[in-house]
Amino acid sequence: MEVLNNIPIKLDLEAVLKRMRLRNRRENIVGNVREMLELARPVAKPKAIYEVAYIENKNGDSLEIGGVKFTSRVLRVNLDKVERVFPFIVTCGRELDEVNIPPDDFIKGYYFDQIKETAVVLARQQVEKYLKKRYALGQLSRMAPGAAMKIDWPITQQMELFSVFGGREKVEELIGVRLTDTFLMVPIKSVSGILFPTEVSFESCQMCPRENCIGRRVEYDPELEKKYQLETTK
Ligand code: SF4
Repeated sequence: MEVLNNIPIKLDLEAVLKRMRLRNRRENIVGNVREMLELARPVAKPKAIYEVAYIENKNGDSLEIGGVKFTSRVLRVNLDKVERVFPFIVTCGRELDEVNIPPDDFIKGYYFDQIKETAVVLARQQVEKYLKKRYALGQLSRMAPGAAMKIDWPITQQMELFSVFGGREKVEELIGVRLTDTFLMVPIKSVSGILFPTEVSFESCQMCPRENCIGRRVEYDPELEKKYQLETTK
């Protein structure tokens, strides 16, 4: 298990505006984002934790990762030929999360939220880059409990994921991420899941029908669901 608390990210205006996918970069919007960045950049300290874990006991729709049992058909199929995976948690960090934006200033609150979102995405990308280099990996894909396919890999399995790192208290102590009783992470701009090497890229968005999602990376593919059903009934 390794904690990364010095993740180099380039949290600048361009990165935030790109993340926001603005069609029209109006001066007042850019000005507000710039102002919020001045608050964010001096304190931003994203953090991550990851583990190198091995797959065991593949059985039906379940498998064990680092000795912890997970149940998800899609995860099980995706990891069918994989032996080593990288459970991870990445956060924008409490320092950024605890910056006080007046609650009645909705506009600035929104832009600050976008900055936190950008910070966690940039940090996750850096973690992937680091893992690829350190473990000589090719393409990586990732899956997260509850991110999509809610029925297949329920968010309740965040508990199992956190237990790979020694449990909720340990994760909070190491990187400041608290898992609530409803399985949400605080800071809310945190991401968790399993990174795994793949030849064919997999994105949860392929199996998520949610419309108008700003985070969508690839198109929804209803056919893919059928493929996973078929593969598991072989
Ligand atoms: S479309 Fe949005 S909600 Fe669905 S998996 Fe992708 S990022 Fe997550």
